[in-house]
Amino acid sequence: MPAQKCPKCESTDAVRNGVINDRQRFRCRQCGYNFTVDKVGKGISTYYVIKALQLYIEGVSFREIERLLGISHVSVMNWVKKYQVKVPEKNTYHPTYKILSHKELADFMNDRQNMAGAGMIVTELGDKFMLIKWERFRD
Ligand SMILES: [Zn+2]
Repeated sequence: MPAQKCPKCESTDAVRNGVINDRQRFRCRQCGYNFTVDKVGKGISTYYVIKALQLYIEGVSFREIERLLGISHVSVMNWVKKYQVKVPEKNTYHPTYKILSHKELADFMNDRQNMAGAGMIVTELGDKFMLIKWERFRD
């Protein structure tokens, strides 16, 4: 489960603190505030639905999406059906991706070698960033 942001002080330093009415409760370690979020599989925030569908379109497999976002591949398959998302056929670009902290991302961008010869996007992922880079298949 991705890091939860405290609605009161915006800290992401929260710990699980029981389940109430099918909602996961968290306690903020900074200010002590208790808050609940929808459990994964019940109601996932639109934020993660969009992230999952973005990854799917970029050619990331259902299993990899499950591993990256902690969302069941069954949920992702259901969204793909529900929103009728289609991946362009014969995608000759192969995505590779890294999950980086802000500092790691800055270091990565600082190295000009990393920026050469490929397309890439950076997308926010919880409190980290995901960098997706494409390289063309050689055929
Ligand atoms: Zn807090």
